Formats: sequence, structure tokens, C-alpha cells
Amino acid sequence: MNTELSIEFFPPQTAEGLLKLKGERARLAALKPDFFSVTYGAGGSTRARTFAIVKEIAAEGFDAVPHLSCVGSTYTGIRETLEEFSALGIRRIVALRGDLPSGMAEAGELRYANELVEFIRAETGDAFRIIVAAYPEWHPQAKSPEADLRNFVRKVRAGADEAITQYFYNADAYFHFVEKIRDAGVEIPIIPGIMPIVSFHKLARFSDACGADIPRWMRRQLESYADDVESIRAFGLDAVTRLCERLLKGGAPGLHFYSMNQASLILEIQRRLGLEAQSGAPAQ
Ligand code: FAD
Repeated sequence: MNTELSIEFFPPQTAEGLLKLKGERARLAALKPDFFSVTYGAGGSTRARTFAIVKEIAAEGFDAVPHLSCVGSTYTGIRETLEEFSALGIRRIVALRGDLPSGMAEAGELRYANELVEFIRAETGDAFRIIVAAYPEWHPQAKSPEADLRNFVRKVRAGADEAITQYFYNADAYFHFVEKIRDAGVEIPIIPGIMPIVSFHKLARFSDACGADIPRWMRRQLESYADDVESIRAFGLDAVTRLCERLLKGGAPGLHFYSMNQASLILEIQRRLGLEAQSGAPAQ
């Protein structure tokens, strides 16, 4: 069975970061991913940088997938962005609500991702494959798991083709989520989002912000390594590879890696999984 592989980048702020990303991408190209995606700052804060990287990826012969967040945006602004995506030959979009930085007013015409999905479908028909976000451990602002599930189903019914999950380290959360949405009649593929572990402190900060759980056994072990980067790397590789193995064995249709713009951990995980190179975009 072909396992879908996608890899996510964020747009660096500096010319040096951009150059480094180009190098990391060239290494990841050996994996022949189905697509590379590029995040989009809420309120359009990274718009120009996201576009620039998407163009570079497309020029390298890969399927380039921009994220598009709608909070703080107007329908006119989103329409213009969709036209630009079309002109670039983009075929897939990750459609999100986004989070405005605290203190920034929530001005804008779209409030939730389901409204963005509905608008993209109304404006562009089937021109884009629409990917949405899913939360196996539930979105941190959700009133209840049931409410989050209903909201997810609404977003899919609005026209989503596929979902990528927030990262998690507990495979049962993913299987439980998939079971719940299948019971609710949702059949789209749910691709698990995988976060390789580079630094415990960064991971802990991210996880607190986005509501992803680091299980106690992992947290305690990672904490015990303090600044021992090699031990963190070795433990993280073992834990994340085992998670991926369990997910794929349990029927996950693919893997989406949050790369943090770094290639080496993803290359090693794929090597351990025996998935070094599969079908997809042309090799460089
Ligand atoms: P929604 O699906 O709109 O859900 C947000 C919350 O509102 C949930 O609690 C939900 O239950 C509730 N809700 C949803 N619809 C309704 C409704 N109609 N009425 C009432 N409540 C509702 N952020 C960025 O800024 N840029 C990125 O590029 C980016 N990429 C991401 C990629 C992935 C794969 C993931 C998982 C997340 C990404 N994020 C990104 C983060 C994301 O924007 C945040 O998690 C955000 O808080 C929620 O976005 P969403 O699209 O899931 O929102």
C-alpha cells in the first residue's frame, strides 16, 4: 500500500534561514514526498514569505501546498489569494482558522475554518483539494469533545477532502478520533501529524500552546536529559518511530511531518520505517 508522505515548513524570517531551508528541502526531496506544505501566519502576517517559498517549491518540480488561515481576513482578500494560488498552478490548500497573536483584534469576516472551506468551494468549485486540521486530543478552545467533533464534521461537510492532525504522542488518541468521526459518517482520510523531537523545552512550550499532550513517561525521560542533545535525539527518534509504526500498522493512510525546517530526523525516521523513497513527485 502506498503511504502518503507530506512535509511542512514555516517561512523563515531571514535570507540565511531561506537558504538553509532550500538545503534541507533538497535533502528531503530524496523521500519523494507527495507534497511540501508551507504555513501561513494568521491575519496574512507571512503572506509574501509563504508565497515566495511556495513558488520555489513549485519551480523545483514538487507539489507545493500553501496553508491559508482566515481569521482576521475579508472575503475579498481571500478571493484575491485564491486567484494568486490558481495562477501559480496550486492544486491543494490547507484551510485553517488560524490564531491571531494575543492583543490583536479579531477584525475580519471569517470566524471559523468551515466558513473558509465553504467559501473556497463556492468560489472555485473543485479546483483545489482542501485539507483541514483535526485534533485527536481535541482543540484547546473546544467546549467539549462532542462540540469539537460536531464542528469538525461541519467543516468536512463544507467540502474538505482530507485532514491532517495536530501532533500527538499517544496513538490511541488518533485511533479513538478516527473511530468517532467514522461513526459520525465522515470518510475522508485523516493523516496523522508527526512532530519529531529536537528540543524538550521548545516541544513543551509548543505543546502547552496548542494543547498537545506529552505523556508523563516521555516528559520525565526528556526532562532527565536536561541539555544532553544526543540523548534527547536518540530517545525522540525511538519514540516517534514507534509511534509512526503503530499508526501505519493500525491503518493510518500516511504521515505528515512538522519539519521545523530540519531534514535529518525525518530522514532517519523514514529510514527506520523502511520508507526512504516512494512514489510521488520527481526526484531532484
Ligand atoms: P476551526 O476548525 O475553525 O476550529 C477552531 C475552534 O473553534 C475549535 O475549538 C472548534 O471546535 C471551534 N469551532 C469550529 N467551527 C465552529 C463554529 N462554526 N462555531 C463555533 N465553534 C466552532 N495556524 C496558522 O496560523 N497557520 C498555519 O499555517 C497553520 N497550520 C496548521 C496546520 C495543521 C495541520 C494544524 C493541525 C494546525 C495548523 N495551524 C496553523 C493552527 C490552527 O490555525 C489552530 O489550531 C487554530 O486554533 C484552529 O484552526 P482550525 O482551522 O482547526 O479551526
